[in-house]
Amino acid sequence: MIKFVIGGNWKMKKGIAESIQSAKKLVEIVKDYKNVEIFISPSYTSLVDLGKIFNGTNVKLAAQNMSQFDSGAYTGEISPIWLLEAGCKYVILGHSERRRIYNESSELINLKVIKALEKGLKVVLCIGETAKERINGSKEKINEDQLKISLKEISTNQMKDIIIAYEPVWAINSRGLNPVGEIRPATPQEAEEMHVFLRDWLTENYGEIGKNIPIQYGGSVKPLNCEELFKIKDINGGLVGGASLNPLNFSEIIGVASKIIK
Ligand code: PEP
Repeated sequence: MIKFVIGGNWKMKKGIAESIQSAKKLVEIVKDYKNVEIFISPSYTSLVDLGKIFNGTNVKLAAQNMSQFDSGAYTGEISPIWLLEAGCKYVILGHSERRRIYNESSELINLKVIKALEKGLKVVLCIGETAKERINGSKEKINEDQLKISLKEISTNQMKDIIIAYEPVWAINSRGLNPVGEIRPATPQEAEEMHVFLRDWLTENYGEIGKNIPIQYGGSVKPLNCEELFKIKDINGGLVGGASLNPLNFSEIIGVASKIIK
């Protein structure tokens, strides 16, 4: 059975005190959901405190990004070794906000993926096309290129420690990414079409292991729309931004997932 993974990405939205408060509440209200893998990626400055709160619970700690180097003269960067020290099990790499606002290339993300796996961190690799790329018919190529380049030199066996997060950029509730116009979740049909494409690509490239790599959907997931998305065969979880900030909303999403796990 493919693991079902729900992650909460708190972005740059909660400081230390608020993160501690939310994390304590969250572990209490999700403690009985044992069939869903749960992670939270708070701000860097909250990682150490949240590592202690999550220790021994069913909520895992994730980082939002990391350096491709262990240590050295890299001002402003965060070492994967420090993420491990703080208790991180996962690191999100290639989030659209990193790719599109901070110009992180798939080549750079590839170096980070290699480093994270070498250190023993599991990787949530984000990919996704913009509205323009979807309209001009290149959505498959964009996602395939992001996968191919970001996963260069990763062995089939190493793919056991990878989760793919398909996040169409136009669906992410981020004014940095989508400065104007409507932001909406993918319809179940739009999501299914891309998840089938991604599952086929993973199976073609990694065989049996590729069949079991979780593919999360991300982009405006909420308690009200998550059921229709999570019921889709090739959706194996969600990466949740805005709706993960409130522990009650987030636990509702986890509750829905827990009931309909395939
Ligand atoms: C995200 O940041 O990964 C995300 C999907 O955000 P939101 O759920 O707010 O659209």
